[in-house]
Amino acid sequence: MLLHVGIDDTDSPKGGCTTYIAATLIQKFVKMGVRFADYPILLRLNPNAPWKTRGNGAICLRIEFDDELEFKIKKTIIEEVEKQADFNCDNTNPGIVFHKGSIPEEMEYFSKKVVQTIVKLEEAEELINKFCCNAIGFKNRRGLIGALAAIGGTLKEDHTFELLTYRLPQYRGKKRILDKKSVFEMDKLETETFNNIDYDTNQILIAPRGPDPVLYGIRGETAESVFNGFKIVKPIEPVECWIIYRSNQGTDQHIEKKYKISELKEFNPATIHAKILKMPWIILGGHVIFKIYDDTGEIDCSVYEPSGKFREIIRELRPEDEVIVSGSIKKIEESLTVNVEKIEILNLVDIMKLSNPKCPKCGSATESMGIGQGLRCKKCGYRDLTLTKNIEKVDRKIKVKTYLPPPRAERHLTKPLKRYGIEKKLFNELLFQPWHS
Ligand SMILES: [Zn+2]
Repeated sequence: MLLHVGIDDTDSPKGGCTTYIAATLIQKFVKMGVRFADYPILLRLNPNAPWKTRGNGAICLRIEFDDELEFKIKKTIIEEVEKQADFNCDNTNPGIVFHKGSIPEEMEYFSKKVVQTIVKLEEAEELINKFCCNAIGFKNRRGLIGALAAIGGTLKEDHTFELLTYRLPQYRGKKRILDKKSVFEMDKLETETFNNIDYDTNQILIAPRGPDPVLYGIRGETAESVFNGFKIVKPIEPVECWIIYRSNQGTDQHIEKKYKISELKEFNPATIHAKILKMPWIILGGHVIFKIYDDTGEIDCSVYEPSGKFREIIRELRPEDEVIVSGSIKKIEESLTVNVEKIEILNLVDIMKLSNPKCPKCGSATESMGIGQGLRCKKCGYRDLTLTKNIEKVDRKIKVKTYLPPPRAERHLTKPLKRYGIEKKLFNELLFQPWHS
């Protein structure tokens, strides 16, 4: 029997981690002789969902076993979720979905919808009733949405991998210490990994902050690359276990959909083809705001202070520059704003400036004498009524290309520049060994 198990929304700001439930289950399943039809899936859902806990990641295990094990396996899963989920947190509403056999297209479509928009619980329940064998929704049952989305996240096209390592219980909540040098070495040697380090600040990006049981994670193009990276990184504390997940991280899946400005909706990530309407300006706190327009309307875009140098790029935009802006849509004082996560510059307008010509006699700078008065040389005093100003093209400091905030300010789903042009078209179903331990 092929069973897909989707689990979501078990963690809270105080601790827990849905991926750790997967890690625990994988260890138990291995002992029971269960086979794995795919890597465990780590699906990042809409990062703008207002109720998300931290990274908003759901997981799916695709497992094969003899029919008589079905009851035991389902029982193990439910017990583990009940044991690990933080039921005291209002925002934690776990969901488990079981689905047998192949994945219908409708479920794949639903999965994308959950990554790209806000989906109602009824829509998930309708699909579960139509296709799935069972589902368990705890509390307000919202976790069913992500659990079902994870099952539909077949990631047949572009995907990446992440190797997550977990901490022993006695270390959780304490500061994570990694040998910094080993992370730099790994980044240099394993060129297929990404977002390990922010080179603007020399910050290590592989270790999260917070109370969850993850020690560090290595993201990369292949399972082999993240495994090789894992062998290089030296943590100061022991690793309890590690798992390689297949994921939509680093694929831009959330901003695939293109919108006109008039179609934008709060909380939905979007990509908009537009032109700059107004010079960018800076507001209190160092955030940069600019306005874009298309044939359906106009909207403010904001780039926040933590985006560092990305703001300097944005400040060089000028009216009529043509761009494709991607980001999340927020409501600020009743009007919508784009929180910019990425900008692709398609066309930069020519900007002209007037300048005084050089003195024809001595080559020094000239100055204007007022309207109709011509120009006079500052050095030799030569004056000529017929001299006129030159029109010059101003050098634009930005280029026609894609710009992203620095890696430390990027979202899990944001595709790093390094991945452009190497997006995957298919999934090789032969699993790399080892993918867990
Ligand atoms: Zn002169």
